[in-house]
Amino acid sequence: MAASPSDSTIRAQLEGAGVPYSIPESADFNQLLSNYSGNHQNRKPGIITVPETYQHVEAIVAACVAAKAEIVVRGGGHDIFGRSTVADAVTVDLRKLNSVTVSENHETAHVGGGATAEQVLEALASKGLQVPVGSCGTVGYAGWCLVGGLGPYIHSYGLGADQIVGAKVVNAEGKLVVADDKMLKGLRGGGANLGVVVELTVKAYPLQDVQAGMLMFDSTDLSKAVTTFLTNYEKLFGEGKNVPSQIYPMPFIFAVPGLGITLCCCVIWNGTATDESRAWVDDVGKLAPLMPGTPEPQTAITTMKALDFSRQLTAMLPPQMLGGRPQSASLTRLTPSAIAGLANVAANMPKSSTGGINMHVVREDCPSCSDNVPDSVCPYREAHIMIELLGVGPDEEIGKEAAEWSMAARNELMGLEEATKKTYIAVTSPECLDVESVYGEKLAELKKLKKEYDPHGFFKNALPRLVD
Ligand SMILES: Cc1cc2nc3c(=O)[nH]c(=O)nc-3n(C[C@H](O)[C@H](O)[C@H](O)COP(=O)(O)OP(=O)(O)OC[C@H]3O[C@@H](n4cnc5c(N)ncnc54)[C@H](O)[C@@H]3O)c2cc1C
Repeated sequence: MAASPSDSTIRAQLEGAGVPYSIPESADFNQLLSNYSGNHQNRKPGIITVPETYQHVEAIVAACVAAKAEIVVRGGGHDIFGRSTVADAVTVDLRKLNSVTVSENHETAHVGGGATAEQVLEALASKGLQVPVGSCGTVGYAGWCLVGGLGPYIHSYGLGADQIVGAKVVNAEGKLVVADDKMLKGLRGGGANLGVVVELTVKAYPLQDVQAGMLMFDSTDLSKAVTTFLTNYEKLFGEGKNVPSQIYPMPFIFAVPGLGITLCCCVIWNGTATDESRAWVDDVGKLAPLMPGTPEPQTAITTMKALDFSRQLTAMLPPQMLGGRPQSASLTRLTPSAIAGLANVAANMPKSSTGGINMHVVREDCPSCSDNVPDSVCPYREAHIMIELLGVGPDEEIGKEAAEWSMAARNELMGLEEATKKTYIAVTSPECLDVESVYGEKLAELKKLKKEYDPHGFFKNALPRLVD
């Protein structure tokens, strides 16, 4: 049943428990409604609650269970398909549950369920610590960990899911519970199917310098640039190569104002500058001819902290991704035919698209691909390449063209022999998401855990969606 804004029973309970909330008539409703994928006027929730304590979350869940109202959780609001906004539901907006504290031994951090990656990095830096994060600093840290957690630091520390060592969850009875080992297994890669994760305890690591920045490659002939870059990339970083865990090249192709569609590559070395780091940075700069007039690798890649780099990346991204339709594909290897496919989809990208192509690579040296990993349902423990096809545009017309491109690109790449059906759930469009193929034998385990912790499917608006 949907929550009507006039649902006086729910509102009375929220007021009784002192839970701040907003309804469509409230002055702050539209601002709360807005998230990375848009303003979602066409699927307004009935009530957006903004809990400030774990007890508030208990009260919200209890009120919704009693009223049989639909519920959805919003962490950092960066689901690219806007799945944390559901028409007529009660939103549990965790943005104020963003505290970050450190355990006594400084080996773990307690992170509020709504803290963003940047908030976590900022709080930890003051304690001399850091954690792995993804590319964009405004993504919810819990939301990132729960779906797998890819990013520049995974080869040093492992996937986001493997950082989880503890959790506090408000369950389907509206009770705050400390996750047991079984529940933790379901949280690591199972999305947020088992309840509202109000706090994660994650591994923390000593703060260190990172060497980071961006290189731009001559893209006069984009197809040639992509082919040269990826062919050399595979020679340097491909299967069986001896690659230090500190290095992470993050190639992307997008429209640079004044330059057109351009092949770029962020380079991150997680550690202090050494002769070894400088040599690897130089090697990335030699993967294809650099764009004339752009800085050489040793100038472009500079010393900073993970927080600075996260802020730089966030500033490069549009503040919202509106119009069109992102898609994604996953490949096992960059063979010549996979490279030819990628060069082709890059060359076909609409010139006025505001999106682009991003590549996230999980190499075999990622600790999450070893046997020494915590128990989980995470399906991404193999070397692979995740490709985001951001078919988005500044207006409806370009957005439509961009969406057609991203779908055609997805179909072309997923038709390759090198495609893997284990696509990344966070960026696979709902119409293309095949949960059985993604999770394989882990799906039965995840469904069993779902049945145990959420027997009536109360948390159905979860990622991945397991209940109709
Ligand atoms: C610009 C951008 C860059 C990205 N970069 C990366 C990247 O580098 N690596 C990567 O792996 N992914 C990346 N992603 C994907 C991102 O990690 C996922 O979409 C993630 O789920 C977003 O989490 P969120 O909390 O911000 O989003 P939300 O939209 O708030 O939530 C996403 C889903 O998780 C649920 N959820 C979130 N928090 C909680 C919680 N505490 N308890 C219960 N349920 C919760 C929501 O209900 C929803 O189903 C990126 C996305 C964007 C838009």
